Amino acid sequence: MIELEIQILSDRREGLLVELGRTVVANGFTLLRQRLAQDDQGAWLTMVIRGPAEQQLALEEALGTHARVRSFESSLSEGGGAQASSGPPAARAPAAARASMPATATPVAAGPDVRQVESALPQLAKDYPRITPWLLTLQRAVAPESRDASLQLAGRRTGVWVFKRDYAMGAKLGLSDAVKRIGVPALRALASVEQHGEQLHIHNSPLCSPSGPSGCKFFSGYLEGLLGASIDPQTVLVRSLYCRSHGAVDCILEISH
Ligand SMILES: [Zn+2]
Repeated sequence: MIELEIQILSDRREGLLVELGRTVVANGFTLLRQRLAQDDQGAWLTMVIRGPAEQQLALEEALGTHARVRSFESSLSEGGGAQASSGPPAARAPAAARASMPATATPVAAGPDVRQVESALPQLAKDYPRITPWLLTLQRAVAPESRDASLQLAGRRTGVWVFKRDYAMGAKLGLSDAVKRIGVPALRALASVEQHGEQLHIHNSPLCSPSGPSGCKFFSGYLEGLLGASIDPQTVLVRSLYCRSHGAVDCILEISH
């Protein structure tokens, strides 16, 4: 269980708590306390909620694409035992040990380092699309076993954000249209991409150097966040089939429902 503090900005306060409370409950969280305030920007709803860690992404996507939500911030609430999800510092490998780990070594997978991802998000938003340095920094800042999940979370949050910023006004699309009209153009801001049906080929991925760890999880999460927000129903799965870090010429991602 984790506790999250979510701050939401909306155009008006009427019915806001009821509508967003429904989204919170539908994703398996319970509302512990809330505060509603108004200023010249709009209505601010702050909620402290508790629920299963594995539902955090689904909840954040639901909030990020909710019609009443203009913007939102989510952070782990202090005192909620939330630190457990980012792993105790003592469990992390020292930086030198991490750097010498060969790219092919696959550490036991762990959940995302939510704290590190949260702290990277403002930089990603500020410098987007020139975010490669921030993502490489994030890759190094987290424990090896959290790297993939952390990159994926950062990707999802970035994808949902880009969707809201650039594509939210359009109608909902089918998956293949969403890939063509939203997924490919948005990903081109970050990398050189070619579409082959349901597969995207990324040339010279800036996150996947041949001698380093794979950063394809970021692109997978990015497409899942972006396309999940574009289609109805909102389930998109992106698998990394090949990666330059694992010896392939191109990184190849496969997109499915
Ligand atoms: Zn790759």
